[in-house]
Amino acid sequence: GSIEKNHREAIEQATTDRTFANWIDGEAVTASTDETFETIDPAVSVPITAVPRSGASDVDRAVSAARGAMDGEWGETTAAERSRMIREWVQTLRDHADELALLESLDVGKPLAHAAGEIEKALEFLEYYASVGRAQEGTQVPVSENSHVYTRREPYGVVGAVVPWNFPLVLASWKLGPALAAGNAVVLKPAEDSPLTATRVAQLSKDIFPDGVLNVVHGYGEESGAPLTAHEDVDKLSFTGEDVTGEAVMESAASNITPVTLELGGKSPFVVFPDADLEQAVETVAGGIFYNTGQSCDAPSRVLVHEDVHEEFVDRLVEAAESYEIGDPLVEGTTLGPLASQAQYDKVTGYVETGRDEGATLVAGGDQPGGDLEDGWFVEPTVFDDVDNDMRIAREEIFGPVETINTFSTYEEAIEIANDTEFGLAAGIATTDTDLAHRAAADLEAGSVWVNTYGSTVTGGPFGGYKRSGIGRECGQDALEYYTQTKTVNVEL
Ligand code: NAD
Repeated sequence: GSIEKNHREAIEQATTDRTFANWIDGEAVTASTDETFETIDPAVSVPITAVPRSGASDVDRAVSAARGAMDGEWGETTAAERSRMIREWVQTLRDHADELALLESLDVGKPLAHAAGEIEKALEFLEYYASVGRAQEGTQVPVSENSHVYTRREPYGVVGAVVPWNFPLVLASWKLGPALAAGNAVVLKPAEDSPLTATRVAQLSKDIFPDGVLNVVHGYGEESGAPLTAHEDVDKLSFTGEDVTGEAVMESAASNITPVTLELGGKSPFVVFPDADLEQAVETVAGGIFYNTGQSCDAPSRVLVHEDVHEEFVDRLVEAAESYEIGDPLVEGTTLGPLASQAQYDKVTGYVETGRDEGATLVAGGDQPGGDLEDGWFVEPTVFDDVDNDMRIAREEIFGPVETINTFSTYEEAIEIANDTEFGLAAGIATTDTDLAHRAAADLEAGSVWVNTYGSTVTGGPFGGYKRSGIGRECGQDALEYYTQTKTVNVEL
């Protein structure tokens, strides 16, 4: 149909005269086996391009390139020099912002305007670290007149970074910004479903960073992610992805005693108190769960509504769900694109089936929209009411545009249900009572709490999980600490 024609043209425009190879030691290289795999446009199920199917030997090559950079001039740079390089890189990337947005939209199905907003957000994170990297200081420890004891913050060395496909460039920037600002060299393994923008940002760093400072290795998790996270010569690991993969990464890290930051999944609650501004609460919840077709680690996927306002809330949320413009991500005005892959489509539609079987009431969506969109991995914005917190749809991360609604009658009950999850990435509250907001913010077991808003991460605000949602924090000045180690120097005068 016309969507497919539109996409084939856009793919041609985005990929002609470009290579999407690995980027190692400042040059484009194929996998040592020369094998490749295809990345698919999820709106039309058409291959975009092929990227290297890398293995352990390619990872070795990238890690030694990074080590070489640490041993070379990069290892001697000052924070000010790195800041200048990062700014120059951001300027170059900003000149290519439209191209990057198109690649990200084609690769994972984001509406083009959303992709453009996310590219800008990623650049803001890099800029932020260009600034705060210069502000990092050690401490001086008082001992005695003759003793001079102070601390230095030193980069770890080679950082192995593994990222998922839901926010490819934003999540890469969360790692690259602090890692590079602190003076590390990086080997980045993008997700197999979203290899494109990482490749371009690495290519566009050429002649800005010394060769080997930023390396990108493509491939499947087991074949290239696992060798990277188990590599003896990697000094620090930072992983974003599913909790079960996080377990494997932590086990690999354990064998080398490599420090590891884990940003994992969530099943985040959003509590609507009876005094809430319902219009605002519905807008916040809908934006949180349906943005990026529900593929957000911090999506507010369990709404707990006070019984007095339950009916009105559900009516309004159904209306909001049905108002989404589901369609071609490249067409202006589209607010909901497809899921990022067929695997994700199968998983999400499987959960819709599960919700029905478990006895939840489907009040909106649930289907593939059909028509022009039948070849893409689209699912309508979906809402289940009468959800019990023991149901699988309330306990497991669906990672799709599926909201679940439960009711409560007392504050204690709301907090108990909200915290009854193995995850703890985020939580939301809707209330006009400031005391209640602060009380609930303290009682909720989550790394981020949003009050009368949801999901926006500010560059300065640390982000990360309680419980099974992870270890460590990204964003903010906290993240810099995770890419440096402290040395205490004791001098006797
Ligand atoms: P995933 O765990 O399947 O894959 C993530 C990355 O890990 C990919 O690059 C993959 O190739 C790689 N990988 C897979 N197996 C590996 C292994 N054995 N060793 C090393 N690397 C391996 O996750 P996904 O499906 O791509 O992403 C979705 C998940 O990410 C969701 O659970 C979501 O909540 C989570 N997420 C968390 C955050 C956060 O900041 N907390 C942000 C976004 C997404």
